[in-house]
Amino acid sequence: MNKEITTTLKEDLLEKKKHLEQELSSLAEKDPKIKGDWNAKMPRVPEGNLEEAADEVEEYTTNLHIEFSLEKQLQDVDAALERIKKGTYGKCEKCKKNINLERLKASPEATTCIDCKA
Ligand SMILES: [Zn+2]
Repeated sequence: MNKEITTTLKEDLLEKKKHLEQELSSLAEKDPKIKGDWNAKMPRVPEGNLEEAADEVEEYTTNLHIEFSLEKQLQDVDAALERIKKGTYGKCEKCKKNINLERLKASPEATTCIDCKA
């Protein structure tokens, strides 16, 4: 793959990573023991206020879902950066053909070509 394009896509990926980490850190804490793992922040449950406690739990559940999805995206971005490092970036993981450039521009963390994704 063209070096210039790879550099551009790498910048996109790093930008995306920064953004994802920012979002994650607003609702989760990095797990110090497991690399790349985040834990949704526990809500502080106010004592004696059941209604508010229920709201907090609901918010926590929502955060958990968002956190999970962000963490997954972050892992995909990291994996793509790793492939750039190894020089295997841009190849479809299933059929080994080059992934369409337009597809990579739209989602630089893609691991398969459009045909294999379908
Ligand atoms: Zn393919």
